[in-house]
Amino acid sequence: MRIVFLGTGAAGAPPGRAESCLLVETARARVLLDCGSGCSARLEALSITPCDIDAIVVTHLHADHYAGIFGLAVRASAHACSRFPLLIVHHSILEEAKSEFQRLLPRSWRDRVKVAGIGDDEVYVVGDVMIRFVPVEHSISCWGVILESNKSSMIYTSDTRPCPTQLQHYLAKADLVVHEATLPSNLSRAAIETGHSTVTEAVSCRKFMREDAILALTHLTVESERELRAWRTLPRHVLVAFDHTFYSL
Ligand SMILES: [Zn+2]
Ligand SMILES: [Zn+2]
Repeated sequence: MRIVFLGTGAAGAPPGRAESCLLVETARARVLLDCGSGCSARLEALSITPCDIDAIVVTHLHADHYAGIFGLAVRASAHACSRFPLLIVHHSILEEAKSEFQRLLPRSWRDRVKVAGIGDDEVYVVGDVMIRFVPVEHSISCWGVILESNKSSMIYTSDTRPCPTQLQHYLAKADLVVHEATLPSNLSRAAIETGHSTVTEAVSCRKFMREDAILALTHLTVESERELRAWRTLPRHVLVAFDHTFYSL
């Protein structure tokens, strides 16, 4: 399983970072985890077109996690993709998701969008990738994503307070955890109020993980990135993701 960070910025991303978007590639599938603004340009830079994407998993209905679907659809038209948008996977509780995505898409794509809602404890399979949602702690309903393929596993927390209880069982098993670090450490009250994590809080999730697993920080703002740049060293097995960072499991 290869993970490519395509968008590592929060809403109003710092220069050089697109909004939330991760590409997961396996032998038999290409899946996007969230699709914020700028995602399609990052894909095209890798010579990957929307035609090559099998599914887009959307964790919650904040625009910085799905607004890029519009640009992806426009590029799909340019490439004359016959099967895009193949599939947008979301949590089944989000009944408004389909109409929200349709509203966002260019008119010519609206009737072609396929949406799949999956519930807690359900597993959705795309090629050789198993996808599962676990609820996290954000300002609106939001889910972390557990991905498993060929005995490797990763967690994408999406937007959340640090290491939510429901995820801890999975944190102990995962090879890679992608955790948001939206706010600098001096804004812990704002993090509570907005359902996000500070840099220090995100790094603290390392204690729930296996010794050899990697914690990657993403969903950065100008302020949290500035703090991370000032750190002389990061804790062992913690990395700061940049757009186009990739990691193989
Ligand atoms: Zn966000
Ligand atoms: Zn959010």
